Amino acid sequence: MNHTPTPTSETTLKTITALTASGLVTPEDAAGLAPVAARYATAVTPAMAKLASDPRIARQFVPDVRELVTLPEERADPIGDAAHSPVKGIVHRYPDRVLLMPTLACAVYCRFCFRRETVGGAGGLTAGELTAALDYIRTTPAIWEVILTGGDPLVLAPRKIEEIIASLDATPHVRTIRIHSRVPVAAPERIDGALIGALRATGKAVYVGVHCNTAAELTPEAVAACARLVDAGIPLLAQTVLLKGVNDTVEDLDALFRALVAARIKPYYLHQLDYAPGTSHFRVPLAQGQALVGALRGRLSGIAHPTYILDIPGGAGKVPAASASPEGDGTYIVRDPQGTAHSYPPSPL
Ligand SMILES: *Cc1c(COP(=O)(O)O)cnc(C)c1O
Ligand code: SF4
Repeated sequence: MNHTPTPTSETTLKTITALTASGLVTPEDAAGLAPVAARYATAVTPAMAKLASDPRIARQFVPDVRELVTLPEERADPIGDAAHSPVKGIVHRYPDRVLLMPTLACAVYCRFCFRRETVGGAGGLTAGELTAALDYIRTTPAIWEVILTGGDPLVLAPRKIEEIIASLDATPHVRTIRIHSRVPVAAPERIDGALIGALRATGKAVYVGVHCNTAAELTPEAVAACARLVDAGIPLLAQTVLLKGVNDTVEDLDALFRALVAARIKPYYLHQLDYAPGTSHFRVPLAQGQALVGALRGRLSGIAHPTYILDIPGGAGKVPAASASPEGDGTYIVRDPQGTAHSYPPSPL
């Protein structure tokens, strides 16, 4: 049983001291967690702190000493972003779409984040670097879709977002803009008229991909924030990370995917956890993930199923996790979109 008192703080908790004062960290644990917070960005928003008596929420955001354990197969850049970055702030791995990372700040910091070695308040793009990144998009006609990610693009000021959208809007070959964000769930109050206005100012299709891992995250406030986006003509997709102790049961996933569909959010991807440093306590073995997804088949409406996906370590791309085949020694073989075979590390026990 978790006896964490409900914090009353209305500010984002960013230090172990603040987390201890609000009751999310016990005084006995505080000293041991200082090196975790020193190494990895930490922030718990009021909306998430309010839910933190649920261990499935606390686990996602409150630092844990197990983060200091890095396994040999865990990498600083697990999906090989750096190898596909032609200019700062852009990752161009697939011919027709690029990632654009205008900021590395997030509203909350997820303890399992695949970019945990780079996210944090500092290290976003300067005005000049953003111009250079937008120039790359403008001068690369193969780019059909721009995916704003980071960090969390929706922590930027609406004026800044509007500037980026306006530049993409003026680029004829860009047809689709996708924004990946945790904000509708983690800080739903930010989805206000000014932010929606900034997203709507476009002749392109604008999608928002909401990162959401449990049904509990879809509070009335989060559902209302999502409704404001959908009502403004912005279709919503959901990205979920499969996490031990958070959503690794059929019941948890069933409740989540139903809640998403009911909130007019299409479950898009269920991600196998990437091999980011200090995340082994979150890893669900691939065989278990495949079994969970299999058990949902037939039980859930067709529109409630995301694709279970994994990113091949090192940068070969995303592939359906259902296609990974076990090798007998615990490793898996996965084929990238070009058909090349790669070995996928075994899950720790
Ligand atoms: C995940 C990712 C995308 C988007 O992939 P989709 O399958 O289209 O959602 C694009 N570029 C990079 C580098 C990615 O890692
Ligand atoms: S919101 Fe996204 S980018 Fe930010 S810490 Fe969480 S997973 Fe990482």
